[in-house]
Amino acid sequence: LEDLTGPHVAEIKHHLTTTFVLRSFRRNQYEAISAAMQGRDVFVLMPTGGGKSLCYQLPAVCRGGQTKGVTVVVSPLMALMTDQVDGLKAKKIDAVLLNSQTSAEESKHIQDRLYSSHSKPSLLYVTPERLKLSGSLKNMLGHLYRTGQLARFVIDEAHCISTWGQDFREAYQELHTLRDDYPNVPIMALTATADRKTVDDILARLKLRDPVVFDQSFNRTNLFYNVVPKRSVEDMVSFIKSNHPNQTGIIYKLGRDSCEKLAQQLRQKGLNAKHFHAGIENKKQVLDEWKSGECHIIVATIAFGMGIDKLEVRFVIHHDLPKSMDGYYQETGRAGRDEKPANCILYYSYKDLQPILRMVRNDKNATPASIERQDQAARAVVRYCENESVCRRTQILQHFGEKFDKKDCGAQCNNCVNANSGLMVTTDFTEEAKQALELVQSLHQENVTLDHCRNIFKGANIAAVRDKGHDKHSSFAAGKHIPREVVELLFNKLLYLDALIEQSVATHSNWHATYLKIGSKANDFLTGRQTLQLCYLPKTPK
Ligand code: ADP
Ligand code: ZN
Repeated sequence: LEDLTGPHVAEIKHHLTTTFVLRSFRRNQYEAISAAMQGRDVFVLMPTGGGKSLCYQLPAVCRGGQTKGVTVVVSPLMALMTDQVDGLKAKKIDAVLLNSQTSAEESKHIQDRLYSSHSKPSLLYVTPERLKLSGSLKNMLGHLYRTGQLARFVIDEAHCISTWGQDFREAYQELHTLRDDYPNVPIMALTATADRKTVDDILARLKLRDPVVFDQSFNRTNLFYNVVPKRSVEDMVSFIKSNHPNQTGIIYKLGRDSCEKLAQQLRQKGLNAKHFHAGIENKKQVLDEWKSGECHIIVATIAFGMGIDKLEVRFVIHHDLPKSMDGYYQETGRAGRDEKPANCILYYSYKDLQPILRMVRNDKNATPASIERQDQAARAVVRYCENESVCRRTQILQHFGEKFDKKDCGAQCNNCVNANSGLMVTTDFTEEAKQALELVQSLHQENVTLDHCRNIFKGANIAAVRDKGHDKHSSFAAGKHIPREVVELLFNKLLYLDALIEQSVATHSNWHATYLKIGSKANDFLTGRQTLQLCYLPKTPK
C-alpha cells in the first residue's frame, strides 16, 4: 500500500482499510479504481474471484474525483445483486436495488430517496430489463443526470452484451444507449469471460471512449487441472474420500435429474452432498448450508455459481462434459479463491458430447448460427480433453488468446505430470494420418460421421460398416494395429490441426447432422510436407 501514488490515493486507501476492512489491493484493483476516480471509462477483465466488485464499489463511496452522486450498477442476476447489496449494507454502505421482485412500495421509497436532495444511496443496482422497460426509472436517471448526481454506470458481466458470448442477453443490447442518453457519465464494464473478439465487441457496443483496459492473466497458478477417463461413480467417491475428506467442493452435472441422482448416490456412499439446480424450492437453504460448511459437496447444474462467494472450495469436479471452454474456465475458477491449492477434475467420456449437442438443438430459441457456435464450443472441450500432449494450462490460456510460454506448468496439470513421469510414449503416425485422410477424402460424397470413419479405419466388423459396403473399402482396417483410444486420438488430432473438420448439415427434418470432411490443412499431410506424432499414455505401461 505504501508504494501507491495518484490523485486520490489517500481517500482510496482509507476506504480500503476502514470501509472494506481489507489490507491490500489485488492485481489491477487500485489501477482500475484510480482510473475510475479520474473520470475515465474503464474495462476490467478479471478472472472469477479476482475481485471485480471492489473496482466499482470503492469509488462509489469516495467523495473526491469523478465520483459525486449515485453509481448505477447493471447486473444480470437477481441472486447476485441481493448478495451484493446485503454485503454492502453489512459494511454500512448505502446500497439499494430495483428488480422485478422489488415491491411497488419499496420502489416508491427508493425513488423518493433518489429524488431527494439528501440521503441518496451510493449505489443503485438494477437489472438490464428494468433499465430498458421502466419509464419511471428512466425519468429518475434523467433527473440525476441533469442535477449532476450520476457518478458512473457499471456494467457487470459485460460479456452478456456480446452476441459472440455464450450468455448473450437481449436487454443488455439496449445498454448502448447509455452513452447517447448520458454522454458525460463515465462507464465501467467488467467481465470474467471474454476472448479478444468479445472484448472488442463489448468496447464498441458500449461506445467506451478511450477506455483504460485492464486485462489480467487468466492463469490460476494454484489450480491443478486434471482430465480423467469417466468410469464409475465409485472412482470419484474414492478420489474425494482420499484427497478431500470433509472438504468443500462442487460437482457439476449437465441435467437436473442427474444432479439429484448423483447427490443421492454420494450420500449413500457416505459423502455429505446435496443437489442444487434452477428448479429446486429451497435454493437459499442449500446455499446457506454449503456456505456455512454444514454441507460439504454441492452437486449442481451450471445454474450454481455466478456470484457464489466462498473462498475455500478445494475441488471442482465436472462429472459431465462442460459446454464450452469459457464455461469450464469459469466453473473451475470457483475453486481455490483463497489462493491455496485446489483440484479441478474433469471426468471425460466422448459419449457425453451427444447430450450437449441434443440440448443445443432442442433449445426453442436456437438459430442455425447459435447452434453452430455452441457446437463448436462443445467440440473445443472434447479436443481439450483428448489432447494429452500439451500442458492443460497452456491449452486453457490459449483459448483466451493468452500465451503461456513456460515449457510446462510445474507439474500443475496431469499432462505435465505424465510428461515428466516417463510413461508417455511418442509415436510417429504420419503414414496412418495419410491413410485416415485418404479414407475421409474418398467418402466425401457419402456424408459419414466421425464415429463411422473411425470404425472403418479400425476395421470394426459391425453392421453399420458392412451395410454401406465399407468393409470392402481399401482403407478398411488400415489402423487395425493401433489401440482404439489411439485411433480416437489420431482423428481428434487431425481435427485439432484442421486437417479434418466436422461439418454440420441441416437435413430435411431440420435436424442437424455432423459429418466428417477434409479440412484446409489436409494437403500438408497428403503431400508428405507434414508429419504427425502422437504423445499418449499407453493403457498398459511399457
Ligand atoms: P469477482 O466478482 O471478480 O468474481 P469478487 O469481487 O466477488 O470477485 O471478490 C471475490 C472475493 O475476493 C470476495 O470474497 C472479496 O471479498 C475478496 N476480495 C476482493 N478484493 C480483495 C482484496 N483486495 N483483498 C482481499 N480479498 C479481496
Ligand atoms: Zn501443465
